[in-house]
Amino acid sequence: MITGLKNMIRVLIVLIWLTVPLSAAAAGHVLVIDPAHGGKDAGVKLSRTVHEKDVTLAIAKLVKKNLFNAEDIQVWLTRSDDRDVSLAQRKKVLEEAGADIFISLHVNAGFGQKAEGYEVYYLGATIPSAQKDDSREILKDMEQTRRLNNSVLLAQIVQKEMGRVFPRKGRGLRDAPVHLLQSLAMPAILLEVGFSTNIEDRKKMRDTKVQKSVADALTRGVKEYFLTGGAS
Ligand SMILES: [Zn+2]
Repeated sequence: MITGLKNMIRVLIVLIWLTVPLSAAAAGHVLVIDPAHGGKDAGVKLSRTVHEKDVTLAIAKLVKKNLFNAEDIQVWLTRSDDRDVSLAQRKKVLEEAGADIFISLHVNAGFGQKAEGYEVYYLGATIPSAQKDDSREILKDMEQTRRLNNSVLLAQIVQKEMGRVFPRKGRGLRDAPVHLLQSLAMPAILLEVGFSTNIEDRKKMRDTKVQKSVADALTRGVKEYFLTGGAS
């Protein structure tokens, strides 16, 4: 009898130990940051030794560090070192994390040497629903509209915060069919930090202080998004 009780208590303790951290984690928000490129895929070149993959990783890690002690926001990265990560693997991280929002980081190139500044892309509404009389289709439509609205909200907030770091360097919000952002189940944005083809931008993005400022802007943006009621 007593051993039975003891065993029961032991089982209960194990159960509580198992469930508490899980429920605490479930109560928070999950942000997944995608430092684009990595490994053999270096992305665009910023100097002889620095490439897009290095800048995106540095900023992503800084955001994670910034939010390390945030009780209500968990941060996952699609990669945390210099390695090849396929599109499928990146999507798998999103699923495992149960991401509420997704931010992909890139560095721009092109449009001549004068093009400079940052760009924020949001997940567009990609799939037109054909049969509106089907209630499942209507629900799907509503779901997509909500996701689009939240993507735009997140993009606007990040745009504003980036504007504090790089005044008048914003190139506007863009709705583009970005490959990775399509068919995602959560609000998603893509930030092009600056242009590798512009000498000033290139210098800035290699500067660790600037990388920190971009990470801080993203951190403030994510916090604000969840505070203003932006959801998944
Ligand atoms: Zn890229």
